[in-house]
Amino acid sequence: MTLDPGARRAILAAVDTLRDEAVETLKRLVRCASTLGNEAPALDEMARIYEGLGLAPRRVPVVPEQLAAHPGFSPPLIPYAGRDNVVAVHHAPRERKGRSLALQGHVDVVPEGAADMWASPPYAPEIRGGRLYGRGAGDMKAGIVSYCMAFKALRLAGLQPAAEVQMQSVIEEECSGNGALACMLALPRADAVIIPEPGPGLPAMYSAEVGVVWAWVTVSGRPAHVRDMQAGVNAIEAAMAIAARFKEYEAEMNRAERVHASFRGVNHPVNVNLGTIEGGEWNSSVPTRARIGLRVGVMMGYTAARARADIERLVAEAAREARLKGATVALEFKGFMADPCVFDMQASIVRLARRHYAAVAGAELRDYPATGLTDGRFFALYQDTPVACFGPDAQEIHGIDESVGIDSMHDITRTIALTLAEWCGVEQAG
Ligand SMILES: [Zn+2]
Repeated sequence: MTLDPGARRAILAAVDTLRDEAVETLKRLVRCASTLGNEAPALDEMARIYEGLGLAPRRVPVVPEQLAAHPGFSPPLIPYAGRDNVVAVHHAPRERKGRSLALQGHVDVVPEGAADMWASPPYAPEIRGGRLYGRGAGDMKAGIVSYCMAFKALRLAGLQPAAEVQMQSVIEEECSGNGALACMLALPRADAVIIPEPGPGLPAMYSAEVGVVWAWVTVSGRPAHVRDMQAGVNAIEAAMAIAARFKEYEAEMNRAERVHASFRGVNHPVNVNLGTIEGGEWNSSVPTRARIGLRVGVMMGYTAARARADIERLVAEAAREARLKGATVALEFKGFMADPCVFDMQASIVRLARRHYAAVAGAELRDYPATGLTDGRFFALYQDTPVACFGPDAQEIHGIDESVGIDSMHDITRTIALTLAEWCGVEQAG
């Protein structure tokens, strides 16, 4: 069913009247420093936003014991108490005419890094040059605001979706995806999913994404005073030797014949990041222990399980090197154990969103094979649900001075509102 021109006009006019409210809502969310373990205020804010839409929010806990057997589950980093996801469902009050839709977004953000390098404090949202700056502004609180405002715009236009609409605010997109998995399993399967994740700095629709495995290597050396340095094993140097092995692996995994067709033309799609290092006790002591945290990309056609086996082999080989003699090496997998996936670019939801985006923004959403991942994989891999993953123009996500373009957020809101209305069908609000 297509959207009649009167409804279309009314919806777009309603989105316009919500523009300031969208910005204020985004500011409130950015003020919540929702890093891992600190998501509660942002989740409470989402519950209030859903209530404001006339919906009854409900909490969905992550219970590892219930998810552990699922192929999409990742080993947790920290406990889940006090961090329950928030979902809300609009039930079509009269006859169900259209198709159901899930609107999904993650509230967690990555750490701000060196706060002193930010032009304005990371959790004090500031607008400069038409962009809103703050950690999480682009990835992906603007996208969440867009889908909430899209739903609200239908209401303001005197309409409501004529099919079920789910809204899911989840945790741990940035480290495990377990929040998304729990919510997906707690709700009925929807006919399609929209995830307004930011693109690569230009209008884009995610066409594929790599998988990711997180590995942690702890090296315990033999302590000694530096004057007897030869007697000890330097745990930090040993950890660096192990990390070097991963750089060789990265080069191998990016060889042209290993790159899947969906990633052709992408420079260096498989990335290995040495993300954290801790260790050592004293400048004049040979360090006893060092721990490194690695993020290993997984190419389409490969699996997280195979990458895990590769990592086990690499670490075992490194541990046998002569210079590591006397050291103990322990390997743990905590966080992402995520398979790569491709998204169906021919799916009706993708085509519909593209058509509306082109009409409201005057630009095409380009196919985007992503070298990072989203929660979209759960729906695509384990539920066979089509996913349209596209979002506002965001810059420096995971970096310093993250920002989102406000006009671009507005275009995404308009696109989601029209897509929602056409996908679900609309009826006069009762
Ligand atoms: Zn994200």
